[in-house]
Parts: sequence; C-alpha cells; structure tokens
Amino acid sequence: MTSAAAPGAPLLLQVAGLVKHFPLRRGFLQRDARVVRAVDGIDFELSAGETLALVGESGCGKSTTGRLLLRLLEPTAGSVRFDGIDLFTLDPAAMRRERRALQIIFQDPYASLNPRMTIGQTVGEPLALYDLAPGRRRNRVAELLGLVGLAPQHAERYPHEFSGGQRQRIGIARALAVEPRLIVCDEPVSALDVSIQAQVINLLMDLQHRLGLSYVFIAHDLAVVKHIAARVAVMYLGRIVEYAPVRELFARPRHPYTQALLSAIPVPEPGARGQRTILQGDVPSPIDPPSGCRFRTRCPYAQPRCAAETPPLAVEGAHAVACHFWRDIAPSLEPETARTPTAAAVRLARLQQAFRSRD
Ligand code: SF4
Repeated sequence: MTSAAAPGAPLLLQVAGLVKHFPLRRGFLQRDARVVRAVDGIDFELSAGETLALVGESGCGKSTTGRLLLRLLEPTAGSVRFDGIDLFTLDPAAMRRERRALQIIFQDPYASLNPRMTIGQTVGEPLALYDLAPGRRRNRVAELLGLVGLAPQHAERYPHEFSGGQRQRIGIARALAVEPRLIVCDEPVSALDVSIQAQVINLLMDLQHRLGLSYVFIAHDLAVVKHIAARVAVMYLGRIVEYAPVRELFARPRHPYTQALLSAIPVPEPGARGQRTILQGDVPSPIDPPSGCRFRTRCPYAQPRCAAETPPLAVEGAHAVACHFWRDIAPSLEPETARTPTAAAVRLARLQQAFRSRD
C-alpha cells in the first residue's frame, strides 16, 4: 500500500525554482567567492494527503530541501507555496502562524529530544501556542501519546528510558501536537533497527489515513520509499534527475543514476535478482559540480554532449527524466549474473515481511 492523494485532491505544496547556495568562508571574517550549491533549481508539487519521497545519496540536497520547505533556512532563489501562500514572502509573525501547519520529524530521535524534559513536557511544549489550560494540555498529551501507541503514564518519564523506536514515536507525537497538515520526515527511520523501521513506517501511514496528513519523506533507502511514497523525486548534486509515480519508477527507471540506486537494493528471493550497476567514484563536490550533466563523471553512458549541455527534465506523462539519452537506455534491469544473498538481503527480507503482514 502506498500513500497516493485522493483523486481530485487539492495541491498543497508547490515548489518552483528552489535554490540554496551556502557561502564559503576562509577563516573567521574572510568570505570565499565560491558557494556550496546544495540545492540548485528544483521544482515539485504535492497534493493533500499524498507522500512524495526525496531520494538520493548523502549530500544530494534532500535534507536542505526539507528545511527550506519549513523556512528553517532562507532560500537563495525560488518559491515554496503552501496552500497557495508563498512562504518566503511572509514576515516572521505570519511565518510562525503558518508553521503550525508544517512540522518536521528528524532522523535522530534521541538528539531531537531534550534529556532534561519529561515526555509530557516535550510533547506538550508546542501546545503553548494554543494557550491551553494545564488540565486540557495534560489530556491532549495523553491523547497524542495514544495516537502513536504509547501510554498516558509515559508522560512522566524521560527520553533515556525509551528505546529508539519509542523515541521516534515521541517525536511524531510532538510533531502532531499543533495539528499539522504537512510533515517533513527527514530520514525518520534511518537510525532504527529494521523491524522497528517497519513499525514506525506503518504508524506514519496509519496516521496519514486517520488525520489526512501529507508527507515529504526524505530517504536514501529505496526499500522504505517503495512502501510509503506515491511519487519519488531522485536527487543528485542539488538537482532532480528523475521524477515519477513510485510503481512506474521501480518498474521502468530511466535515468542511469536511478537504475544504479535500484540495482543496489538487495533482492532476498533467489532467482529474482537484477544486474547490479556499480557507481564509480564519489559524488563530485557541490562547490564545483561537473559541467553539463552533473552525473556524467560516474555515468556508464556518458557522451561528449553530456559535458557540453545540461539535460533538461524531459516529461512523458507523469514521468520526468533529466538525461540526453534516456530514450536509448533500457528502462528495466537485466537478469542477474552473480550475486549472493547478503546480510543486507536478509535485512530487506525482514522489512518486506513486516510490510506484507501489515497489508
Ligand atoms: Fe549519463 Fe549523459 Fe544521461 Fe547524464 S545525460 S545521465 S551523463 S547519458
């Protein structure tokens, strides 16, 4: 089961030409003329009740994008329209009001909780915005803990008394306190054991159906994305290189980078394996990205044209690809040559089993 918006659902989020360049500094006061091109001109949309996944290797700009959506960072250029309002035009007071509807869940549930605050204080803190009386606030905290599968008496305890999965549930309860409409989930399960990952993903999906939430789900784990997202945007060096409905992306990946990411997913069933594309080299520096297609230094299909021209996102139906030669590149993965089950494959099998038992 994936999280698609209901047919005809209104657009909730429209991101256009979003750019974030971080200035470099040399020493304490000296500024470098160069910039880190963390996000370099991306566009996407999200409907109410939908989940969009942003996927890519570390340093591709996906977490910076998540912070820009909540205006935790100021953009270099571009716009983020939430429910028709351009967030970057709001003054601080108006942005604070708007931020009630936009929340974030972080990767490390322990680091995001104050160890000196009880769970009740942590979850109840955002409720100060509502000016609720202490008794009503206690009731609301108990209700929020129940929503995420915790008990009311957990409110009296401290973060160190909980497991990683429980701490992530507490982070989700806190995010839900102000009744958001959109939650940016920034690698929310990456730090968790695989069986706990499935529980947290299942909880997020249940909450989405019960509360009508929309998610921007940031991940590098395509196995997780396959189950929660309706659409996927694959990012590389600050740009979106492929954008498609999740089933379409998994069945017919067109960009060589997406194909490489998908081929790296371990396949637990013997005989059902695809050929693995090994990416050569590291991700180039976002300070000085390659000319033309930014993926060209690692692409097995690169041609001279790839260095000279930046490929635009070519759109065909709901599928968009930024590659000069995407029509010539086979869309599906070839049969396996030689791969053996690994610990990662066993891990994936457990994850898939957990999802199957939920469906
Ligand atoms: Fe590879 Fe060229 Fe396509 Fe870039 S444009 S993905 S380098 S074939």
